[in-house]
Amino acid sequence: MKINFIDLQAQYQEYKTEIDKEVSEVFTSAGFIGGPKLDSFEKNIAAFTGVKHAIGCSSGTDALLLALMALDIKAGDEVITTPFTFIATAEVIAFLDAKPVFVDIDEKSYNIDASKIESLITANTKAIIPVSLYGQCADMDELNAIADKHGITVIEDACQSFGAEYKGKKSCALSAIGCTSFFPSKPLGAYGDGGAIFTDNDELASKMRMLLNHGQNERYKHKYIGINGRLDAVQAAILDVKLRHFDKEVKLRQEIGQRYSLLLKDAGVTTPHVKDDRTSVYAQYSVRVKDRAAMVAKLSEKSIPTAVHYPMPLHLQEAFIYLGYKEGDFPISERVSNEIMSLPMSPYLTDEQQEFIVEAIKG
Ligand SMILES: *Cc1c(COP(=O)(O)O)cnc(C)c1O
Repeated sequence: MKINFIDLQAQYQEYKTEIDKEVSEVFTSAGFIGGPKLDSFEKNIAAFTGVKHAIGCSSGTDALLLALMALDIKAGDEVITTPFTFIATAEVIAFLDAKPVFVDIDEKSYNIDASKIESLITANTKAIIPVSLYGQCADMDELNAIADKHGITVIEDACQSFGAEYKGKKSCALSAIGCTSFFPSKPLGAYGDGGAIFTDNDELASKMRMLLNHGQNERYKHKYIGINGRLDAVQAAILDVKLRHFDKEVKLRQEIGQRYSLLLKDAGVTTPHVKDDRTSVYAQYSVRVKDRAAMVAKLSEKSIPTAVHYPMPLHLQEAFIYLGYKEGDFPISERVSNEIMSLPMSPYLTDEQQEFIVEAIKG
């Protein structure tokens, strides 16, 4: 049985007529930067998330970078985040010469443990970046309460959780700034790189819009040092088509995720724990196994692709040696990094494929 880790070919075939039409309109108009497709997409994702301002940008990484730049994060500042994430989350902090301060995760949700944050807040702490990992939102209420008390800002790294809900509100709408990614393999994926920033704050929105366009407030007038961080019209056109079908895809992802958990009940693996007051979009369906190498090999024998998100926590990465952390500093992140693995996941995974994967895990 042929199983793709993420079935982007099947998705293109499903929406081909609509996508080809939208993209060819961009080609015909030759308006490749900005324009009506971008305006439409931004309006639609603002409505989808219930946030006042949605700003398309070049990637999830740049969304996080622009958020930090808008808050004037600079050398000497500290930003609290999780070591159990993709490097981009902490990379952007370090890129601005600020200091990433890591806090261990909760063993069940794999998201930052809010109860461990307050003791690490100093006079230099400017922000907290929780990651809504694998598609499930972090404990945003607790995090916002801590931030409010100390006058700092929460930026949700929602790169994996676009479409997820938390207490009836959408991911990206849960704190001062939300950042997401449209990397092709994310729940809402472009056909190249892309991302978006969300905020209800008019001032931050207008500053981030300038920052992603070289800090321009009018043509060739530069108010800030910015970057080229724009989302292009072709990607916006494709994303706008996919957004029309996104609710249906989220529902399918949730059904498939829940079905995995049911089928794997007695399989000796730890399935994802989704809290009662929120949903997951299962950007990854990740399980914990004691002997991961053996499990990966067993599945690979049956041509079942798997992946590891993520094999090494950030505090142990060579690039972050200068921060001075050592093995043992974040034991939960380290343990989960050794045991976690992701199974094939897409709205196009069939029941037969899922059963085949589960049988292979049990076998
Ligand atoms: C994918 C991802 C990013 C970066 O997004 P890009 O669009 O690839 O730059 C950042 N944080 C997390 C948690 C991610 O999964």
